[in-house]
Amino acid sequence: MSFPATRLRRLRRTGALRGLVRETRLDASDLILPLFVTHGSDRREPISTLPGVERLSIEHAVAEAAQAAALGIPAVLLFGIPADKDAEGSGAWDDEGVVQLAIRAIKEQLPDLLVIPDLCLCEYTSHGHCGVLTGSHQAATVDNDATLPLLARTAVSHARAGADLIAPSDMMDGRVGAIRAALDDEGFEDLPILAYSAKFASVFYGPFREAADSTPASGDRRGYQMDPANGEEALREVLLDVEEGADLVMVKPALPYLDVVRRVKDATRMPVVAYNVGGEYAMVKAAAAAGALDERATVLEVLTSIRRAGADAVITYHAKDAARWLSEMD
Ligand SMILES: [Zn+2]
Repeated sequence: MSFPATRLRRLRRTGALRGLVRETRLDASDLILPLFVTHGSDRREPISTLPGVERLSIEHAVAEAAQAAALGIPAVLLFGIPADKDAEGSGAWDDEGVVQLAIRAIKEQLPDLLVIPDLCLCEYTSHGHCGVLTGSHQAATVDNDATLPLLARTAVSHARAGADLIAPSDMMDGRVGAIRAALDDEGFEDLPILAYSAKFASVFYGPFREAADSTPASGDRRGYQMDPANGEEALREVLLDVEEGADLVMVKPALPYLDVVRRVKDATRMPVVAYNVGGEYAMVKAAAAAGALDERATVLEVLTSIRRAGADAVITYHAKDAARWLSEMD
């Protein structure tokens, strides 16, 4: 039936009616807060491209994680900034490395908070790429198969430190299978893998690279991250990761790829995580600072849209603010 019998505005008349028929809920329990953990002690370094976000030494990261937990945020995602880097990225699997120490420190204080260390080599390699390089300087490429054992080794190191999920973000082919096998061999059959399955070679990562000090010294990551134009290929990436044993899949970035989030959800019925990345955060912050947008309303609309697209959870630098605003609305 159509107008005048059908009037969709009837259910928009009051807040109570709108609440009754609301399809998508946003809750602090859907959010994951990323933290940049740096070596050394008593360090808090602001990141100019991500206003309000800091690189934190471990004791400050623990305090930040505690604040997140108190706001009802169930998980933190850790990025390590080591003191030293080398060509292989050996700091990634150092059992006394910055991320491993941070996992232990957070789990000791906050055993119920989920701790998810990002698993990649780019924060630990001197050249800034996500795997080991092969070939001479100008023609150097990342060696996929030589990188897999290093990722597997890092995954086991994260597991031993007490990680709740293993989260590979490198985009090497076959890494989920290699990591699953290594975890199972070491007795970590019950540890889930959150795969960065459809990670696009996006300009929106710019602010993150300053934060994690992981800009490639030469070249870019288009040889392994996905072409922003490809949605079908994103589904192939996701389905391969599922076949290899991924328990949750991720789409990154979020806002320019909401169609991919929806397609991944429809194609897999898997738990889907979307990463609302640094560039997305920086745009909102800049627009709010310029007086062009209301920050609170913008953030809540953005995060709701990512959930509506099909994401079960959202990784976002807005997590603490959003959790606070949501609790004020209850
Ligand atoms: Zn990487």
